[in-house]
Amino acid sequence: MQQYSNKLRSEGKSIGFVPTMGYLHEGHISLLRASKNECVVSVVSIFVNPTQFSPNEDLAKYPRDFERDFSLLEKEDCDILFYPEPSEIYPPNYQTYVVVDGITNVLEGQYRPTHFRGVTTIVNLLFNIVLPHKAYFGQKDAQQCAVILKMVNDLRMNLEVRICPIIRESDGLAMSSRNIYLSDAERIDALVLSRAIITANELIISGERNVAEILNAMVAIINRAKSSSLDYIEIVDFFTFEKVEKLFKGKKYLILIACKIGKTRLIDNDIITINS
Ligand code: AMP
Repeated sequence: MQQYSNKLRSEGKSIGFVPTMGYLHEGHISLLRASKNECVVSVVSIFVNPTQFSPNEDLAKYPRDFERDFSLLEKEDCDILFYPEPSEIYPPNYQTYVVVDGITNVLEGQYRPTHFRGVTTIVNLLFNIVLPHKAYFGQKDAQQCAVILKMVNDLRMNLEVRICPIIRESDGLAMSSRNIYLSDAERIDALVLSRAIITANELIISGERNVAEILNAMVAIINRAKSSSLDYIEIVDFFTFEKVEKLFKGKKYLILIACKIGKTRLIDNDIITINS
């Protein structure tokens, strides 16, 4: 892969890269389409990265369907599918990890303490193999986007990061490979995440600026679903991920939710800009 990317680079061809863990859906495909729009050659990787799962998480049962993914990518005219084996990426003598401080200690980092270390390590590794000019990530994983932007800036990595919007099912549920775990009843319950976000937006549009009030209304909606159990629900500064108490004109924020529906942990978020 690295040799091929070097060859493409020497021919002056731009390389766009979409890292994924497979079990592809429209969210992943939207990233591929963005890459195809901007780059000459688009590479999608499928790698269920063991280092970003903690021992009590779903690595072994994470959904996989290579044939289905392959035909989806073929249909979308993806140029290259990079599909390495875990033993090729992490041979027995593998010893190097990339860690971003600060922003990885809150929210997802608090609930999944080793997660971002695995993410930054694999993304760095894949960047070194695929040598992309541009790499595409989904806003669905808002904190992951911020962590990767931080890594790329701090380490002066020679590529551009593009963040693409969240793709949702028609009823509002953010697309995720993990949605397949949901039973029919849980699939209905899962709508409380996007509904809570809609309610927050409605309150903000109607002039509410007190974060506690907005969060109370959101929690009430989440609690309506019998199978829900909240990890966190927060409004933070878009850039620093610090919690805020009031919303101010001209500022940008993120509403972030992590919530278990039955045994399935789902995340969702929205960007808020206060214009008046
Ligand atoms: P994953 O396979 O879950 O690791 O995701 C691979 C990439 O697709 C990441 O950059 C995700 O943020 C992105 N992604 C996942 N779900 C969505 C979605 N619903 N909308 C947009 N991007 C997504």
